[in-house]
Order: sequence, then C-alpha cells, then structure tokens
Amino acid sequence: MESEECVTCGKNLDSAESFVIFPCPDCGEEIARCRRCKKLRNDYECDNCGLTGP
Ligand SMILES: [Zn+2]
Ligand SMILES: [Zn+2]
Repeated sequence: MESEECVTCGKNLDSAESFVIFPCPDCGEEIARCRRCKKLRNDYECDNCGLTGP
C-alpha cells in the first residue's frame, strides 16, 4: 500500500517534514502519522493487523 496518509486523521501527507513513519509494534507494517496527531497523542490503527495504540 503506497498511499501515505495519516492513519489517525486521514490527512494526505505530502510533505516529508509533516509526518513520521514508524513500524507497527505488532506486525511491522509501516504506519504514517502526521505530527499534529503525534503531538496530540491521538490513537492510531494499523491497516494491516488492526492494532491500536497511542
Ligand atoms: Zn493526523
Ligand atoms: Zn500491525
């Protein structure tokens, strides 16, 4: 899956400086999240395995 959008708010992530990518702790799938959601500590949900976390 190539689309890069925040898994939390669904915003399109077009600037590399505006988001962070980290591997899912459970399955290793890359999860992209915008800095705003990271700062707010909104929950994410893994597209691959459905894991949710802060
Ligand atoms: Zn977001
Ligand atoms: Zn996962």
